[in-house]
Amino acid sequence: MAVNCVNELRERRTLGDEGLLELLESEDESVAEELFRNAREVSRAQFGRRIWLRALIEWSNVCRNDCLYCGIRRGNPAVQRYSLSQEDILQCCQQAYRLGLRTFVLQGGENPPAALLLAETVAEIRAAWPDCAITLSLGELPRETYALLRRSGADRYLLRHETANPAHYARLHPSGMTLESRLACLRSLRDLGYQTGMGMMVGSPYQTMQDLLADLRLIEAFRPEMIGIGPFIPQHDTPFRDCPAGNAGLTLRLLAILRLMHPHALIPSTTALSTLHPGGRMAGILAGANVIMPDFTPRDQREAYALYEGKTAAWTETAANLQDLYQELSACGYSVASSRGDYDESIHL
Ligand code: SAH
Repeated sequence: MAVNCVNELRERRTLGDEGLLELLESEDESVAEELFRNAREVSRAQFGRRIWLRALIEWSNVCRNDCLYCGIRRGNPAVQRYSLSQEDILQCCQQAYRLGLRTFVLQGGENPPAALLLAETVAEIRAAWPDCAITLSLGELPRETYALLRRSGADRYLLRHETANPAHYARLHPSGMTLESRLACLRSLRDLGYQTGMGMMVGSPYQTMQDLLADLRLIEAFRPEMIGIGPFIPQHDTPFRDCPAGNAGLTLRLLAILRLMHPHALIPSTTALSTLHPGGRMAGILAGANVIMPDFTPRDQREAYALYEGKTAAWTETAANLQDLYQELSACGYSVASSRGDYDESIHL
């Protein structure tokens, strides 16, 4: 029965609610294997056995928000706040470029005045590396700031919707933050010509299977170019410190379902997944993901960008670690792609 669901999902790129719930809830290993096998076949048909790398630069942990799950929330006094200088950021880009990466991802806390100033750095990166893509992940900003950053040379924007259920959204965020406003930002980003990424945490506090189903439907309706999901992992200085972490198996099943629903999408095997589950990085690829985001944040700042427990230990990307990554990929028959790996580029492969 569940196997028929997998086939139907692959054929039609969608499935009724009952079928999706069955796949999400199934604890049957053979069902999961069938999902993963189909998802990686679809991914390989689309992209070949190639994986795109994105250089993650966590440029600042200064944040005006107080998201209850996040380690760099404003209300956490234990965080040592930092912002990289333009020079630091350009150096990170240069290191990543030398190692062959062709997309830079500037991620940071939500800080509208700083985001405005960052436009200058974006323009510098654009001028210095015209063959590279620039992705931003800076939270909710005024539309004019998104527009300025776009004009300065940014190509893509990651803004997870976190949960498609407004009531659940309200339990994860302080009052004043709404799903509505998040979705308005996503629409602005798309209108401005960004390739847009959305996604959710898996196993965040109070989340139900119905919520995850709503996430799948929201993503299906929006059709983003990029989809980022990862398990929730508690962080010791947040109100959710005692909540259980999300489930790696469920995260992998969701990755596979998303790949079958969105054959062309750029889907990372995320850091959170590999933090939770040893071997998670490759497991994500074998469940249909086609992107990995090695961390190029300077070592001194990395520790202060602790969104969740164990993050810094899991991911110390240097040239040597990148070699390990290449080996891990090649042991499974994969190699690293050398282009920017844009969405449009990928669908014409
Ligand atoms: N401030 C930006 C980007 C930084 S947070 C923004 O809000 O978009 C990037 C992502 O990390 C968030 O979207 C969230 O989904 C994830 N994240 C934050 N805290 C987490 C936690 N405790 N466990 C797992 N993922 C977390």
